[in-house]
Amino acid sequence: MNIDKNIRVILIGAPGTGKGTQSNLLAKKYKIPKISVGELLRKLAVNNNISNNINLGDLISDNIVCNVVKMRLCKDDCNNGFILDGFPRSINQAQYLTINNIRINFVFNIKLSYKIIIKRLLGRRIHESSGRIYHIKYNPPIVGGLDNITQEQLVSRKDDNISIINHRLKIHNKQISNIINYYKQEVKLGNITSYTEIDGAKSIDLILEEIINKINYFSFK
Ligand code: AMP
Repeated sequence: MNIDKNIRVILIGAPGTGKGTQSNLLAKKYKIPKISVGELLRKLAVNNNISNNINLGDLISDNIVCNVVKMRLCKDDCNNGFILDGFPRSINQAQYLTINNIRINFVFNIKLSYKIIIKRLLGRRIHESSGRIYHIKYNPPIVGGLDNITQEQLVSRKDDNISIINHRLKIHNKQISNIINYYKQEVKLGNITSYTEIDGAKSIDLILEEIINKINYFSFK
């Protein structure tokens, strides 16, 4: 097996499974950037006509997303690794990384029932400028409605409403098995170190521990 000491992680899983929360924590732990593709696209959408697609829960074209990701991964802060959250979301995007020699070593697939996902997304609140994520019941801020660090107002995302959530889950369901099969094959070929399925119903701390154990086992032998 080809072991790369850089920690290059992909988090896949349906919306609301905790990818964003875990990538924030992992980025802090390993001092590498977390790249939330959804956040990058929301920023791009301010001056672009993709905001409609995002608000409706549709995927943005592979061409746009792949370019956004490539440009971000070219920055120097990614030299020692990165946490990629929300990419790939299609088989073309997964293949794009391979074709462009963007090496990945760990893929974590966080799995959770749709019933819990819906509860989580309906109660999710975000601090827009930092990407910090809260939940009104399961991970509330210290002061209701305000970010713990800046005390700025938290907001609900426009796409966190029930009909758009259902649409996003349908899209995820359509794409995910191809992506899983792709990465299982990549492990067999020795192109990535591990593909791991994680039970997203566990606590934030337990999931983090599981991911860290896996990364450390291979990276710090
Ligand atoms: P997220 O913040 O990861 O839930 O993503 C929010 C929205 O951004 C998605 O519903 C899509 O509209 C868009 N998006 C994020 N990642 C991707 C991707 N890899 N491919 C296409 N669209 C994406």
